[in-house]
This record gives sequence, C-alpha cells and structure tokens, in this order.
Amino acid sequence: MTDDLSPRPSGVLHQFSFLDALVAGLYEGAFRASDVLGAGDFGVGCGDALDGEIVLLDGAMHLCRGDGQVVDVAPDALLPFAEVSRFTPTHTEAVADLTGLDFDALVDSLTPSGNLFYGIRVDGVFERMTVREAVRQQQPYRGLAEAVKGQHEDTSAHTTGTLIGFRGPDVFQGLSVAEFHLHYINDARSFGGHVMDFQLRSGMLALEAYDTFTLHLPEVASYLSAPLRRHDSDAEIREAEGS
Ligand SMILES: [Zn+2]
Repeated sequence: MTDDLSPRPSGVLHQFSFLDALVAGLYEGAFRASDVLGAGDFGVGCGDALDGEIVLLDGAMHLCRGDGQVVDVAPDALLPFAEVSRFTPTHTEAVADLTGLDFDALVDSLTPSGNLFYGIRVDGVFERMTVREAVRQQQPYRGLAEAVKGQHEDTSAHTTGTLIGFRGPDVFQGLSVAEFHLHYINDARSFGGHVMDFQLRSGMLALEAYDTFTLHLPEVASYLSAPLRRHDSDAEIREAEGS
C-alpha cells in the first residue's frame, strides 16, 4: 500500500446522469445496471423512479428501498443516476470515535485539494447510523427538493458495515454533488441508504483521488426532450442531499 493521495493514471470516476437532471425530476431509469457495473465495482446511485438508494460494493449492487428493504439489483434494472469507480485506495488509516462532522473534517484534512474527486470507504463499527431512502415517485415526477420530503429515514443504534461514496469539488455542484455523498450498508445487507449522520466507533478509512471524471448522459425520451436550463441549484441539492 502506497500512502499517497495523488490520482492514479488509470483512476476514473464514471458518473451516469447528473444532479441537475434529478433536481428537474428526471428519475426515469436510463442506464442498465450491467453497464454501470461494467464501469466500476464501487459507488452509489438511486433506483428507477427514485425508488431507493444504490450501494455498489465489491462488485455487488444493492438497492436500499424506501420501505426499508434491501434487495439485489438485477443486471437489466434501469438506473436514473450512478457514480462509480474501480476503487483502488492509495491511502488507508485506522479511525475511531468520530461524529459525521468530525469525519468530514478529517477527510478534508487528508485530501490535498478540494478541486479533485475522492473515493471514500470506511469498514467499521458505528454507534449510530442515520440513513434516508428516497421513495418511489409517481408520474408526473416532482423535482428532487419536493420528492425527498416524503423520504424514509431510519436510524440503527450499533451497526457494523461499510460507508461508501465520494467527495466532489464545490465547482461541480449540479453536475455532481459538491462535498460529501455517502451511502451505507450493513454487513448483514439488511439496513442501508443515503447517509444523513453517524457516530463511528472504530473502522478503517480508505481513500483514492480522481483527476478524470466522465459523464454519461441519458438517452431516454424524458431526458432528451426536457427543457433543462442552467440555474443555480446549490440550495436545492444541499437540501435534498442533506449535506
Ligand atoms: Zn445518495
């Protein structure tokens, strides 16, 4: 293990669709799970029609649904959004006794630049983990800020599992998620979702930097015909993503 947070030459963060498309209510599944898996074995995303939160861990894709169930994702399932990589950490260290805010500050202090993307993984024991799962939306889709008002929120006291996600540059807000976008799944694969807050007892933190970012655009009719216009979505994304 090298201990260096320089980007690897072959390290790429692949993103499928973008946040401003979700903000506009474009939740129609557009990317085959098998194609997303072809681009990476590690990452996060959301289900078709915003039906829950995706956790892609060690090549296995799980969907933490809005009814609290965790299910495997079929290869032919269609996803509206995902960000994935072939996670090959170049920095690891033991961590303990951190709140969510402490954790963010620690990762900020370890990562050399706020203007690159970083993959983040923690295998650990958590005293408390609060997650949310978006719930399946009905047509016509409301925008993301409205859609997440009905989200399912759940807290587990004492859980062992994996925190997984990315830290993105502030300037990419709207294309990606500025700052932290973390999901969680427990070892039993029975609890997980989009991370709102946690208390970490102990774990192993792994990080990787990316200087290459690819964006795959949807080719479904709802996207192709959407009247998307540039606007400042920072407040809507922060509200929806809970960061
Ligand atoms: Zn999420």
